[in-house]
Amino acid sequence: MQSQEGRQEREIIDFSVVIPAYNEQEVLRESYRRLKAVMDGVEGTYELLFVDDGSRDATRAILRELAAEDPHVRFIGFSRNFGHQAAITAGVDASAGRAVVVIDADLQDPPELIPKMIEKWREGYEVVYGKRLKRAGETWFKKTTAALFYRFLRSMASQDIPTDAGDFRLLDRRIVRILLENVNERCRYMRGLVAWMGFRQTYVEYDRDARFAGQTHYPLKKMVRLAMDAITAFTMPLKIATWMGFCLSALSFLYLLVNIGLKLFTDITQPGWTSLIAVSLFFNGVILVMLGLMGEYIARIIEEVKGRPLYLVAETGNLKDRSFRDNGDLVRGDGRMPA
Ligand code: UDP
Ligand code: MG
Repeated sequence: MQSQEGRQEREIIDFSVVIPAYNEQEVLRESYRRLKAVMDGVEGTYELLFVDDGSRDATRAILRELAAEDPHVRFIGFSRNFGHQAAITAGVDASAGRAVVVIDADLQDPPELIPKMIEKWREGYEVVYGKRLKRAGETWFKKTTAALFYRFLRSMASQDIPTDAGDFRLLDRRIVRILLENVNERCRYMRGLVAWMGFRQTYVEYDRDARFAGQTHYPLKKMVRLAMDAITAFTMPLKIATWMGFCLSALSFLYLLVNIGLKLFTDITQPGWTSLIAVSLFFNGVILVMLGLMGEYIARIIEEVKGRPLYLVAETGNLKDRSFRDNGDLVRGDGRMPA
């Protein structure tokens, strides 16, 4: 790897488990316990790579303790909350495993499924994602919006995006290297990205459990932002405006013809006001929606052009030999960022 020149060689590990965590003090120890139990049973070396996404609770302190007790535990601490997708990116960037598994910290995705994923990987698949059959302990609102969203996204993407698959997945080193070296988008939707890459992909099915403790950190606002990132990663919606324009023009031309006909051949007169206002309100609405959509794209273009780092690492634990995208040299060795 070119970008790695001059840096310490990474140790080679068989499996990296990347665990994004944001305010997860209630579950973290339990997650660690279950992940460790599972990974101890798998043949090969492993690391548990936690990413603390700028938590405001005791998450960071717990990670420091775990890292001191167990060399399998490594962690990255962000300087603030950069979001779930950024946390996954950082974990994958820093991982050293031949296969990298991404799993939520809240035990909604069962760690016991990892050996099955590894089995598929050993059969030669580069991507193994978890496909949710049931979702326990989630509101009907979350389930419906999620289901609608997955289907909408699928209809828009030119490649297959698996429905009902979250970020729980196994990635081969090949995929990880492409993500690291060739993918530079700022507004990320990892699932779409990975689907776009191709290679051999498969899935294992599971029932999604309820959260072990605590609450979701995906309030409506974050869900909408993720959805917009995912949608605007494709350019299809931009074309909606053109199609709508064509359809509406055709319709209004027909309407005009009908009215001319009525005027010439009958004595029916069309009273104006109400229909006029209705039509005008409708079109103003359409125009505003399309303008808003353009705005979303422009905002993302600005984000990309600014080229700011995706995340900032403030602290690491048991990760001396690793580097990070954009701020690779800010963190040298373990501990906090040097002044
Ligand atoms: N998470 C994160 N940063 C955030 C929000 C969430 O790293 O800003 C982590 C969180 O700790 C969890 C995972 O992302 O491990 C999924 O979040 P959550 O369980 O709140 O979402 P849900 O399962 O309800 O979709
Ligand atoms: Mg969850």
